Amino acid sequence: MSDKCSSCSQNGSCTKESKCTVMLPKHGKIKKIIAVMSGKGGVGKSTVTGILATKLREAGHSVGVLDADITGPSMPRFFGINDKRAIMQPEGEEVKFIPVESETGIKVISLNLLIQNEEDPVIWRGPVINGVLNQMYVDTVWGELDYLLIDMPPGTGDIALTIMQSTPITGVVMVSTPQDMVTMIVKKLVTMASKLNMNTLGVVENMSYVTCGKCDERIRVFSKKSAKEQAEYLGLELLSEMPIDLDFVESLEKGNAEEYVLNSHNYDELFEGVNKAINKSVNIIK
Ligand code: ADP
Repeated sequence: MSDKCSSCSQNGSCTKESKCTVMLPKHGKIKKIIAVMSGKGGVGKSTVTGILATKLREAGHSVGVLDADITGPSMPRFFGINDKRAIMQPEGEEVKFIPVESETGIKVISLNLLIQNEEDPVIWRGPVINGVLNQMYVDTVWGELDYLLIDMPPGTGDIALTIMQSTPITGVVMVSTPQDMVTMIVKKLVTMASKLNMNTLGVVENMSYVTCGKCDERIRVFSKKSAKEQAEYLGLELLSEMPIDLDFVESLEKGNAEEYVLNSHNYDELFEGVNKAINKSVNIIK
């Protein structure tokens, strides 16, 4: 076993040391890496990442967030830190990134915290994006983290593939919505993750229902099929159903989504479902 293995979150569950392409952060040690993925954009992957990070932090863990959705980075807005900038600190020939901390101390790195103007587009080809992402993961000063959550780029493309192969991901949380067209696309990613021997923890169905303001009934607005049926189609455990939550949207627009999540019970089920799946997971090194 090499030195690299002893600080890898997959240590003990991996048999491919000789073919290892895994990279490790230079400035810190991360116990568990959870990748939040979806085959399609706009289904709530970033929302789930932000909520999970907030809940894990609330539970007393040290947490970091890597916003790997380079072309649609939204984590700084979730945490209300979009007017701040990560510091790029030269160190010899290299540079290290000091992440921005959220109100509750979640360390966030995102391309939008590194560029001057958050509205500037990224007009780069795949290899450049891959290089920048590697740097954001390897050269950020994470310190000691219990959890690093990665908000993955949507889809099954080159960038997602590179992250899946070069990061010691402990578990994957898939995000879907109750529409057959979406679950069909998510299924592609589930199959890809399985081919790459990733440990998929289960699926979160976002925008599952709205709650009736008068009688608290959960109304499924997008599908007559149950979330369980959708999860069965994907061959995954259902981790949680998340409501369409307009108060959340409002809090996001005001820049205080983190505070809203801490004061809402809408996401207790998400935290419990994912936490249970993590603890049950055979690949987790305690
Ligand atoms: P993705 O990361 O998959 O592209 P986002 O998390 O950015 O998706 O969500 C897309 C949009 O939908 C955002 O504007 C977000 O605020 C909104 N959204 C996501 N989940 C919910 C929800 N449960 N209720 C209301 N709006 C939501």
